[in-house]
Amino acid sequence: MKILTDLHTHTMVSHHVFSTLMENIEFGKAQGIELIAMTDHAPAIPDGAHEWHFLNSRNLPSVVNGVKLLKGAEVNILGKSGEIDLKGFALECLDLIIASIHNPTYADRDAEDHTETWLNVMENPFVDILGHPGRDNYYFDIEAVTKKAKEKNICIELNEHTLVKSQKSDDFCREIALACKRNGTKVVINSDAHFCTEVGVYEKVPKMLEEIDFPEELIMNTNASRFIKYLEEKRNKKYNF
Ligand SMILES: [Zn+2]
Ligand SMILES: [Zn+2]
Repeated sequence: MKILTDLHTHTMVSHHVFSTLMENIEFGKAQGIELIAMTDHAPAIPDGAHEWHFLNSRNLPSVVNGVKLLKGAEVNILGKSGEIDLKGFALECLDLIIASIHNPTYADRDAEDHTETWLNVMENPFVDILGHPGRDNYYFDIEAVTKKAKEKNICIELNEHTLVKSQKSDDFCREIALACKRNGTKVVINSDAHFCTEVGVYEKVPKMLEEIDFPEELIMNTNASRFIKYLEEKRNKKYNF
């Protein structure tokens, strides 16, 4: 299984990240990556980027050294109402939104709350991807969330970074992937790179998907044109590269 895009990468606009956008692009290109999304942390999390980063990223080129570039954000879900920390024009001018739960910006309760959180954030039409839902400290009703993601044409992320964390995360990610297979829910495979050598490097997620005989037609980001087609249909707009 070859994945030729990486839709979840971070840059040094956050101090806990160690590579520049150019380094991510160059390393990704060397891996054969056709499309990268820059998805830095939105402002509410400590060390998140300033709102101006997201507003100004629309001025970056759409193709850099032959690699297509989507300008996105990894927004923080702020509570079970599904509220997120970018709004208005900042959301409108970005190409791609990943919505994630991060403990510094989320008052953690129980699996029922996590389920409600995911269900509510999917009511936001700008949300394209649910970020790293497989983290082991945020259990939720997998059946309800994957069914709603299918209904809303939102992708569930299978995150390489999550799978290297613990056996508990591995098991939970596998359960999520099995539910996506069962319910026909779309997925994307991403690195969540915080250093350029991680961009476009996928080992554990493809291996897990092969083990469960996951249907390739549900993986939206196997190549650039497939993902762009998905995004154009979902957002009802044209992306020019
Ligand atoms: Zn995250
Ligand atoms: Zn991330």
